[in-house]
Amino acid sequence: MEKTIAAISSGLQPSGICIVRMSGPEAIGIADSVYKSRGGKKHLSRVKSHTIHYGFVCNGDEILDEVLVSVMKAPRTYTGEDVVEINCHGGVLVAKRVLELLCLRGAMPAEPGEFTKRAFLNGRMDLSKAEAVIGVINAQNDFALKSSVRQLQGAVSVKIRELREKILDEMSFIEAALDDPEHYDLDGYAETLSGHLQPVETELQGLLLRADQGSILYEGVRTAIAGRPNAGKSSLLNMLAGYERAIVTEIAGTTRDVLREQVQIRGISLCLMDTAGLREASDPVEQIGVNRAREAIEEADLVLYVADAALGLSEEDLQTIRSCEKQEVILLMNKTDLLQDTENETVLAAREQFFGCPKVHVMPFSAKTGEGQKKLEDLIVSLYDAEKLLYNNEVTITSARQKELLRKAKESLSMALQGAELGVSEDFLNVDLMNSYRALSEIIGEEVTDDVIDRVFEKFCMGK
Ligand code: GDP
Repeated sequence: MEKTIAAISSGLQPSGICIVRMSGPEAIGIADSVYKSRGGKKHLSRVKSHTIHYGFVCNGDEILDEVLVSVMKAPRTYTGEDVVEINCHGGVLVAKRVLELLCLRGAMPAEPGEFTKRAFLNGRMDLSKAEAVIGVINAQNDFALKSSVRQLQGAVSVKIRELREKILDEMSFIEAALDDPEHYDLDGYAETLSGHLQPVETELQGLLLRADQGSILYEGVRTAIAGRPNAGKSSLLNMLAGYERAIVTEIAGTTRDVLREQVQIRGISLCLMDTAGLREASDPVEQIGVNRAREAIEEADLVLYVADAALGLSEEDLQTIRSCEKQEVILLMNKTDLLQDTENETVLAAREQFFGCPKVHVMPFSAKTGEGQKKLEDLIVSLYDAEKLLYNNEVTITSARQKELLRKAKESLSMALQGAELGVSEDFLNVDLMNSYRALSEIIGEEVTDDVIDRVFEKFCMGK
């Protein structure tokens, strides 16, 4: 028999209400053993499912707290098991005492994510939905929240099942034809296969493209601020951070000591990697600083390169910007307030240098007066168009695990289609189709091994 688990499901800070949750075959019995109604006559084991009850949690004669208890009987519950939720007062101590008491009466402390893991194992949700639960909890911006809620409603599962079904149809036909060549004819089948599965390949390709953009938006655009000393990097950082400073958070420094801050620009999170000041360090340290700045650039999706418009671009500036092959670069020709004419020669020269480079965007800027700030924001919003991804009703996958499987599914399917074109025999085609089918199944959590399941759920917080 499954053990009954218990945990504090709300955060561990003082708050109005705290929820202690229990799930498992003994949940209602254990709750009943600590519960007293006002008149002392009600028993939780006799109440109807999905009802809530006022009363007290007691350890013998001692009243621990005044509570509301929800009783939800299997199978229509979050975990698929009997679930009891005790709403006690939000003092951390009182919630801990209630939890301890439940454990004394036979409940086991839950592992992080164990409630949702049970929901998955009991068939209440598939793995893509379980991952969406983590997504909703961890969402740091509007895009992350909305795409996770959409995934939680089943958008990813529905799409993946639909594509998987089409692959299965072809696999079954091939199997049948190999088994029973008298009734099924494989002559000219390669063409039929392409006709049926090329659209699936195109859809997988589309999902992959959106997944790349989606994961950038979900986690935040990794943004490096780079440029020569005194160009105005710190001033830019302050401008961006100060713009909505209420949501500026300092994320714990990495081993490489690059300070990370999150800012929001019209719903898009930028994870700023602040290399500002690194180069100003004294000599022996300078090289380390330069290396770290390079690392930050390499890691970035977006580089905000700051140059002093009065000085123009140095050979080193040009080299660094040209080395950014995969990143978008916004080259801010800063300090235009010191110039006579904003479209001055150095800005035009910079534009000329990067003419025909679609990923380098040159703009005049002044961190001092704010000139160019709106245009910078407009450009960032157009580069990472969260609205478009969210509102075209297409499915966007954001989990790295799912993305990797999507890639595998697409590659195997492409191999099958190429094989069909080259006249490879059908039983070989079926191997590739099977690989593609399996990868898709893993996205929704079918055909996954225990260690994959453990890896997904260990990312959860306690009590979920
Ligand atoms: P960093 O070394 O690249 O981080 O550059 P800072 O942000 O520290 O700026 C260096 C100097 O340039 C400071 O004195 C700033 O006040 C000044 N500065 C930065 N941006 C501008 C600007 O747009 N206009 C003017 N006039 N001065 C600026």
